[in-house]
Amino acid sequence: MAGAGDRPNIVWIFSDDHSIQTIGAYGGRLEPLDPTPNIDRLAKDGMRFDRAYVGNSICAPARATLLTGKHSHLHGKMTNVGGFNHDQQQFQKILQKNGYQTVMVGKIHLNGSMQGFDYWDVLPGQGLYDDPVFISEKGESKESGYVSDVITDKAIDWLEHKRGDEPFMLMVHHKAPHRNWTPADRHMEKYADVHIPEPANLFDDYSGRTTAAHEQAMEVDRHMRMGGDLKVGEGRHDPVQFAARNADFESRDLSGKELVRWKYQEYLKDYLRCITGVDESVGRILDYLEAEGLDGNTIVMYSSDQGFYMGEHGWFDKRFMYEESYRTPLLVKWPGKTKAGSVNKDLVQNIDFAETFLDLAGAPIPEDMQGESLVPLIKGKTPDDWRKTLYYHYYEYPGAHSVRRHEGVSDKRYKLIRFYGIDVPGEEEWELFDLKTDPTEMNSVYGEEKYEKISKRLRKELARLKDYYDVPEHSEPEVRQPRV
Ligand code: CA
Repeated sequence: MAGAGDRPNIVWIFSDDHSIQTIGAYGGRLEPLDPTPNIDRLAKDGMRFDRAYVGNSICAPARATLLTGKHSHLHGKMTNVGGFNHDQQQFQKILQKNGYQTVMVGKIHLNGSMQGFDYWDVLPGQGLYDDPVFISEKGESKESGYVSDVITDKAIDWLEHKRGDEPFMLMVHHKAPHRNWTPADRHMEKYADVHIPEPANLFDDYSGRTTAAHEQAMEVDRHMRMGGDLKVGEGRHDPVQFAARNADFESRDLSGKELVRWKYQEYLKDYLRCITGVDESVGRILDYLEAEGLDGNTIVMYSSDQGFYMGEHGWFDKRFMYEESYRTPLLVKWPGKTKAGSVNKDLVQNIDFAETFLDLAGAPIPEDMQGESLVPLIKGKTPDDWRKTLYYHYYEYPGAHSVRRHEGVSDKRYKLIRFYGIDVPGEEEWELFDLKTDPTEMNSVYGEEKYEKISKRLRKELARLKDYYDVPEHSEPEVRQPRV
């Protein structure tokens, strides 16, 4: 192990449901809006990972994977329902034993006392946007202010009072931009007069896919709530903050596609305003590190627990193995190590994060963690035998948003998905996408003669991955009845 003075600090900034479509550095239709000038600083000074994916696109399981370096079936948090076994091995416990100060501030969405952190101060469950309650070892405390600001204040306050020169791992976990996408008051006017570009498949009819895409409950049209989500009429929101929107809505007589378009605009604006709050937090932390001279020996990483639909396929929410929710942002700045403005296109997954943190710290990596350290990639040297495929498995059905259980395999071009039933045992449906010819995944080519060889190869690869990752043939994750 290198001497204590050589070991880098790690600042890990993690948001909830942040889609790459709303990060300027990733390009796309929203880039001209310049939604993330500070997050983009990480890409400009460091490395952007273009093929970072999750193993199960839903909040709590993704967070359990972050801490354990394991897929859902091994850490046991397969759905948002039920508990997380905090007694199990987690990377921060190992980091702490190896001389790091470990800190978690903000949203973790795993009930119970955190372990392996010198200091933890987290939101209970989903937490609140305004005047949030926090839970720490000292018990509950209610803070005043907007949640992204309070989390940032707590993180900087800890940095102000950290112990001596011991290296640290600081995890800053935002609630934003999670549903119901409530911005800070000071950002309410942002984008007020802007028309947000629509995705080409906002009015997807799902004709090129199997039952699952038809039967989900996450459409802007049919499932987004006027009250709670769009803050119009009766609902859990501040009537003063959203008075202008309510007046605007009442002055119109919208229905059909025009109503969907209106909902899309307001949804995106609220979401992007939440992103501005997160982006300001990133800016404050980067500025603090620079002002204190800590930036030279501190790795700053930004990611999210998974991606999100910004109206693509007519949807909000996540869960599917389709790109918008399967992909997640990953930006890494490590002065002197990452090449400024570099882009990595290797297949990486959230099972890799825990091992990466341990490797950065020179701490031992347990053999039962399932990922790979990203440190060589961050340094610009991908090993020759780097993985060529990824495994995915979503379990929460029946459940919120009614997305069928599915598992799948993807490489850099193709994606094979197997949807399977628990209500209809044995019933399964397959989809295959060629992302080169169909990047927005509108037409499954599964069963087409031309793709027979590829299907066969990927089915074999899926079986190999399940064996490699010790995936049980049958599992009974905790679920609850559907609630949109
Ligand atoms: Ca999430």
